[in-house]
Amino acid sequence: MNKQKIQEIFARFKKSNAKPTTELIYHSPFELLIAVILSAQATDISVNKATIDLFKAANTPEKIFALGDVNLKKYIKTIGLYNTKAANILKTCKILIDKHDSRVPKDRAALEELPGVGRKTANVILNTYFGEPVIAVDTHIFRVANRIGLAKGKTPLEVEKQLMKAIPTSYLHDAHHWLILHGRYVCTARKPRCPECLIRDLCDYKDKTVAV
Ligand code: SF4
Repeated sequence: MNKQKIQEIFARFKKSNAKPTTELIYHSPFELLIAVILSAQATDISVNKATIDLFKAANTPEKIFALGDVNLKKYIKTIGLYNTKAANILKTCKILIDKHDSRVPKDRAALEELPGVGRKTANVILNTYFGEPVIAVDTHIFRVANRIGLAKGKTPLEVEKQLMKAIPTSYLHDAHHWLILHGRYVCTARKPRCPECLIRDLCDYKDKTVAV
C-alpha cells in the first residue's frame, strides 16, 4: 500500500477518534498489567467483570500474592485459562516484589521476563501506560493489517515490523488502538462491515470482494 493511502487511513482514524485507548478498566500500571495478562484469549468485557471485584480486594503485587492460588481463582474463574493465568499472575507478583520494588518495569526485556507476559503484552503496557510508539499485534491487528494491505506477514512479529515501518511516526502511538478497535467493531473476522467502513475506498480487500 502506498504512503499516501496509509497517511489518509490514519488521518481518518484520528478524525473519528482522536484519543483511542484500551477498553480494559484499570487505575494503575499494575492493574493494567494484570488485566492484560487476563485478557489473553478472553474478551475485555469478561476481564472487566472479573477485575472490578478483584481489584477492590487486591490491587498491588503484595495483596494479590497474599490472596494465594485458591482465593485468586475465585475472582477470575469466569475467564478462560484461569488456572494458568492465576499461576502466572502469582509468579509475576512475586518477581515484581522481589526485583522491581513492586512496580511495573518500563522496559521490554524486564516485562517479557514476567510469567504470562510475551512480546504482545509487553507492547500493550509500553504503549498504553508508558506512551511508547509500539504496536501489539493481536488477532485483530494481524487480520486487519493483512486484509486491507497495510502489512502482509505470516507471523505477528512480521506484521509488527512492517507496521512500524509503514505507519507515519505521528500516528504510531495511537495506531495500536485504532487498528484493534477497527478490527473489533468494523473489520470483523467473519463479516466485515464494509458498507459502513470509513476507509472502504482505501482498502485492498474491499475492492476484491465487496460491492460498496
Ligand atoms: S472496507 Fe471492509 S475489509 Fe476493508 S477495512 Fe473496511 S471493513 Fe475491513
